[in-house]
Amino acid sequence: MSKKGTVLVSGGAGFIGTHTTVALVEAGYDVVMIDNFSNSGPSAVEGVEKILGRKVTFEEVDTCDEKALRGVFERHQFDTVIHFAAYKAVGESVADPLKYYRNNLVSYMNILKLMKEFKRPNVLFSSSATVYGDAETLPVTEQTPRQEATSPYGNTKQIAEDILRDCCKAYPGFYGIALRYFNPIGAHPSALIGELPRGVPNNLVPFITQTAAGIRECLSIFGNDYNTPDGTCLRDYIDIVDLAKAHVAAVDRMVSGKMETKYEIFNVGTGKPVSVLELVTRFEKANGVKVPHKIVGRRAGDVPAVWADTTLANEKLGWKAERDLDDTLRAAWAWEQNLHKK
Ligand code: UDP
Repeated sequence: MSKKGTVLVSGGAGFIGTHTTVALVEAGYDVVMIDNFSNSGPSAVEGVEKILGRKVTFEEVDTCDEKALRGVFERHQFDTVIHFAAYKAVGESVADPLKYYRNNLVSYMNILKLMKEFKRPNVLFSSSATVYGDAETLPVTEQTPRQEATSPYGNTKQIAEDILRDCCKAYPGFYGIALRYFNPIGAHPSALIGELPRGVPNNLVPFITQTAAGIRECLSIFGNDYNTPDGTCLRDYIDIVDLAKAHVAAVDRMVSGKMETKYEIFNVGTGKPVSVLELVTRFEKANGVKVPHKIVGRRAGDVPAVWADTTLANEKLGWKAERDLDDTLRAAWAWEQNLHKK
């Protein structure tokens, strides 16, 4: 066993799970990955192993299945869990709320219950900037009030944060960190792991890369009549490898007993707003490819602008976003191209 300890990564085969596993192992942790492959496949695990040049411990387990999850706790020693396993499509959550509440909360309750029962102290929850909604002041700090969720997906993030807060308050020896991600994009520089959307992508960058690859005819830009410099929405696009490193910093903080309160929240972003149009143009320039695009109407539920104040993460986690946006966009394109070589 590694001296640094072992981390259970639920949803380990997903976009953030794979990159975080790589970063944890590179930082000296052992990882137990679990995933039910509902939105990924074995090739994601193989990609992680290729990058690391070694096997990783992986089990195909559905975190909603308490009995199966219990087996993971019985077989493996770990002090920390990073819980990624969740559905994440906003529109689908509006169409089928029960699917989202059931999957995202049952899996989470199982994790928390077993962490408590097996006396495993540290829970890192993957939350989202979606909790801030249409914030009145920008950039948002962790103190910025959350707003009522506009989708069941967003609501599961808020509920899960609250559950973790309450557990940390109630149970001795139970610690929690919620990381609120802004917009994770890009891929590992090796192009061996990246985002694998099923069907038509909901998110901007996979839609851009698929359009550049000719899989989609034209990117629709949802609205150019927002009160922003070029009229398109502003977001904080965080490189996936930087995001993965934020998890390592948060785990370090938990295992080394440096937490100042039992439950902590950190924004994970770059602190820099980028517009949709700017991102498309930067992608085209960085990669020397064209992305046909047209302006269409606004997408329901989109907020005009949100970006992070990252001071807390910079100071307390000793973490900062480092990757250059052009490099991130090149990595996203390299990953897309690699997918079509296979
Ligand atoms: N967006 C877009 N066209 C797309 C997908 C997204 O114009 O095909 C815009 C979307 O309206 C938002 C930004 O890109 O302003 C980021 O959207 P995404 O779904 O990636 O993340 P979100 O910020 O909604 O979590």
